[in-house]
Amino acid sequence: MSEQGSERQKRSEIDRRKFVLHSVGLGAGALTLSRLPKARSRRNQQAAGTPLVVTSHSNETGGEAMRQAWEILDGGGTALDAVERGANVIEVDPEDSSVGYGGLPNENGVIQLDASIMDGRTYNAGAVASLENIKTPSSVARLVMERTDHVILVGIGALEFARSFGFQEEDLHTERSRAAWLRWREEHSDRDDWGPPDHLRNLPSPGPDGRDANRDANSGATGPGTNSGLVDQPLDFHYGTTNVLAVDSNGDISGITTTSGLSWKVNGRIGDSPIIGAGLYVDNDIGAAGATGRGEDVIKSCASFYIVLRMGQGRTPQEACEDACELIVQKYRNVNPNFFPSEKFVAVNKAGEYGAASMGNNRGRPRMTVRNAESLQVHEGTTLYTG
Ligand code: ASP
Repeated sequence: MSEQGSERQKRSEIDRRKFVLHSVGLGAGALTLSRLPKARSRRNQQAAGTPLVVTSHSNETGGEAMRQAWEILDGGGTALDAVERGANVIEVDPEDSSVGYGGLPNENGVIQLDASIMDGRTYNAGAVASLENIKTPSSVARLVMERTDHVILVGIGALEFARSFGFQEEDLHTERSRAAWLRWREEHSDRDDWGPPDHLRNLPSPGPDGRDANRDANSGATGPGTNSGLVDQPLDFHYGTTNVLAVDSNGDISGITTTSGLSWKVNGRIGDSPIIGAGLYVDNDIGAAGATGRGEDVIKSCASFYIVLRMGQGRTPQEACEDACELIVQKYRNVNPNFFPSEKFVAVNKAGEYGAASMGNNRGRPRMTVRNAESLQVHEGTTLYTG
């Protein structure tokens, strides 16, 4: 290995250790502000032209994804290659139930993936929706962008397209995702007949309306980025997606949003992730934004486009993410004041600032992993409207 290569490897190892240390701290609830440089400041700025890459994932895989994406940026590579690498790391992780391999399936037990990619430099975009059996939908989306004159391919068409480029079809279920789905199928309704007969189940007495009066009380709260307790706890709907956004040393900007979508969704349902302007938007003159959470809200508000638009009007990424939360909450406030949406937005701008905001969930402040020339760190944004 060249001296430069081994130096880079050494640096990555150090980065990885730093990140792991940090993750352990998070897991133990020992997050201290001193370990999060600039975490509370509204302007998280680095020098213009300095590369950075971020993801909405804040777990260890998110850290590894950023480490690998950073290697590309640090070596002078493009934002486009960096976001693809970062997204692929998360997509192939079998432990991650929100994206790619091992993602949670739809109501029929079929894992249908949505992904989009946007290249600010060429103002080009590609996406796939309801794609089955391919672990890395973001790479298929990239080919849609680069090798067709279209933006979105869906279902069997997307699969045939992927196959034609040599992508291998694989069962995307892990033992864990299948067990979660089987369990959901047995528990999802208090009126259906899945699962063992009542007299063989160890249940409290059925409530007036159904088989299991305790189901709601036992249901764990779920929210953006959630993928814990899949097998041990009663299952409700789970959200989870990843956004990867990057600025390279030329100042070019790219982004990816990739997901297995809302768990147990109706067969064929497409969320916001493959819709340019909703789950992802990039403007090379301004910045990039991505969304996770209830896709239906994000589609209707064109949230990622709105965030980039607001940044173009002078708002920081942090403020623009909050603006999108505000927009959605205001719309629902007129319709149902008791409804609290649960989206999370992340954004970066051309100057290397970044931010995150979420609303309506009880899981604390939204986190994102950020890698720039300074550090690899987990940044906490703001939570609004927690209900
Ligand atoms: N936005 C995704 C969807 O609605 C799910 C998520 O981010 O949790 O499909």
